[in-house]
Amino acid sequence: MTGELVQCPFNPSHAVKRIRFPIHITKCRQNHPHVDLVPCPYNAMHWIPQRQLADHLANCRDNFELAASDS
Ligand SMILES: [Zn+2]
Ligand SMILES: [Zn+2]
Repeated sequence: MTGELVQCPFNPSHAVKRIRFPIHITKCRQNHPHVDLVPCPYNAMHWIPQRQLADHLANCRDNFELAASDS
């Protein structure tokens, strides 16, 4: 049992255990200051290029405001 691995958005060669993702991201972000990614407010696993953020928020499946207005 190795746990679920997710790909690091800052360096695709990093495979990170989901449970360690927030810790890894905090460190890795400092190591990649040129990578312009921002966290999705609806899901901390989503890291999106700044210029695509509005697009992502409009389509994010974890956007509860979007889900609430879906009725
Ligand atoms: Zn990383
Ligand atoms: Zn999202």
